[in-house]
Amino acid sequence: MTASQTTALPWASVAEVDPDVWAAIEGERARQHDKIELIASENYVFKAVLEAQGSWLTNKYAEGLPGKRYYGGCEYVDVVERLAQERALELFPGSEHVNVQPHSGAQANMAAYLSSVNPGDKVLGMNLAHGGHLTHGMALNFSGRYFEIHAYGVREDDQRIDYDALEVQAHEVRPKLIVAGASAYPRIIDFDRMAAIAHDVGALLWVDMAHVAGLVAAGLHPSPFPNADIVTTTNHKTLRGARGGMIFSRRELPASVDPADYPMVKPNLAATIDRSVFPGVQGGPLMHIIAGKAVALKLALTPEFRDYQARVLANAQVMGETLQSLGARLMTGGTDNHLILVDVTPLGVTGREAERLLDEIGITVNKNAIPFDTNPPNIASGIRIGTPATTTRGFGTDEMRTIAQLIVEAIAVRDEPAKLARLGRTAREIADRFPVPGLPEA
Ligand SMILES: *Cc1c(COP(=O)(O)O)cnc(C)c1O
Repeated sequence: MTASQTTALPWASVAEVDPDVWAAIEGERARQHDKIELIASENYVFKAVLEAQGSWLTNKYAEGLPGKRYYGGCEYVDVVERLAQERALELFPGSEHVNVQPHSGAQANMAAYLSSVNPGDKVLGMNLAHGGHLTHGMALNFSGRYFEIHAYGVREDDQRIDYDALEVQAHEVRPKLIVAGASAYPRIIDFDRMAAIAHDVGALLWVDMAHVAGLVAAGLHPSPFPNADIVTTTNHKTLRGARGGMIFSRRELPASVDPADYPMVKPNLAATIDRSVFPGVQGGPLMHIIAGKAVALKLALTPEFRDYQARVLANAQVMGETLQSLGARLMTGGTDNHLILVDVTPLGVTGREAERLLDEIGITVNKNAIPFDTNPPNIASGIRIGTPATTTRGFGTDEMRTIAQLIVEAIAVRDEPAKLARLGRTAREIADRFPVPGLPEA
């Protein structure tokens, strides 16, 4: 390396410093452009969010909270974090306290547990096989290892959450904490009913709204506020923000619980939440990501964002109706939100086969277990389809109808490579008409 190269190195681009990583980044840009993204938990952030996330705020250590840091030089990152907090509280009316530092949804959830239960305590969470999340009690997850998890689920006949059964179970189990929220549930969740059930048995209600936060923000899904005691979310799913999480809570424990059951809560719930994030489960916050969250939350407060969420729902409706009319079996018979869970076995394939086949024609989905699935999880009977990413890209109901037809046709002609190739070209033509927001053109 010459002296001038050495001098230039700190300012060189990824492409110059590390062509191997750059080639993969560039490959991923092309993949995001060329393929149709139907993974329900993904979205495309706007350029301003990418820019904030890629900024020099990454260099700053800022353990603690704005105005109360363990490091000097925090005057600018304090501004950023306060803006993120103010906007988060404004976006969700009825919320009283927020911590915007969780590095991910899973870490926000870890802080929720740390703020409300001790190892061995009883927790009631949604069955993973019925649409719940790993952090709601899966055996290999910390939640399943450290707490006594009792699972509630959906009814077999209509695949909807059985709130009456949940109420009976809550009275039998007497958990300290009830977790509401899901990763693969296509219907509105009755947070108010769940809060009533929890408070009736002296438990706290924690809502994990990771999937539906954008819909909640837009007023298109009932809000967990003010009745939930703790609310966690990711920022990067329907909320279309930076990658990471947030945790909200009431300031004080609700009057319905016995403070003696929650010895970790002192002097109040809000302070406990903050302490659980740092030093509880994290060290220094990712200030560049918090800047991305602040920018995305500003965008989420606009009328355009509400309009976007309405289009997400309209697109999911059309996708679901079209698939159903072509012979697919929709769990719960339809959707109220941004995702549908489709049993593809009536079409003659498993979830795993459908995922691979659709990938071949440029449509990205994930295989997903359906409630009471007879196939093992790594094969699965279903696929999960979500509309947040394609809607960000500008796809409307016409495109959704065509994509639903492509999905069913691809499964039908799965053994005919020439026909599959033709379907792949149609998918690519649609993708080519809609540049991905935030991405540079090739
Ligand atoms: C995605 C998700 C999470 C985890 O978020 P990560 O950022 O992937 O850790 C937690 N809970 C629910 C319900 C989710 O859907």
